Amino acid sequence: MTTNNDTLYKIAETLQDSNIDREKIEKSIMKMLEAFGENPEREGLQRTPERVARMYEELLSGYRLDPLEMINDALFDVTYDEMVLVRDIEFYSLCEHHLLPFIGRVHVAYLPKGRVLGLSKIPRLVDMFAHRLQVQERLTRQIAEFLDELLHPAGVAVVVEALHLCATMRGVKKHGARMTTSAMFGYFRKNIATRQEFLENISRGPVSIF
Ligand SMILES: [Zn+2]
Repeated sequence: MTTNNDTLYKIAETLQDSNIDREKIEKSIMKMLEAFGENPEREGLQRTPERVARMYEELLSGYRLDPLEMINDALFDVTYDEMVLVRDIEFYSLCEHHLLPFIGRVHVAYLPKGRVLGLSKIPRLVDMFAHRLQVQERLTRQIAEFLDELLHPAGVAVVVEALHLCATMRGVKKHGARMTTSAMFGYFRKNIATRQEFLENISRGPVSIF
């Protein structure tokens, strides 16, 4: 079984270039503060441009993560072919239309066909796609496509449930309105029973261990 690394980099939209331009962000934030009618020199704001630039560097780090380094050979050959399900993966992303957060949970499932990915890598994969300017639909699809290309499983399913602050903070407030998106490939698309098993699994409340 082969995985095309170029395809993985393409799905991950990995940027090979240098770091984020912190200086440029600082200057822009300074200009924004002025445009708001604020005084950027007042005590509380003096270090704000610098803080915001450092914050964006972290929140947008997903473009420059090397996905193959992240996976770090945590691929294992198995004969197991039952559904692997990782649910309730917390994520924080930034809506590309408003630069405001959207936050929620991701549920990922796949049907292995000879190969699985180490369990701890799935939340890291979610983070890689969340730590950038996103829309929820693309985030959902990218996670599914990446796993599909990496593992060539018999099926992949990804469901994302999120709260968008750009919707809840602005205009007519719809407190708590959540959006759900999904991407289903292979068996999850073709086979209603498989899809149903997955959806039933994730619709039970969060797992409580304590
Ligand atoms: Zn938005």
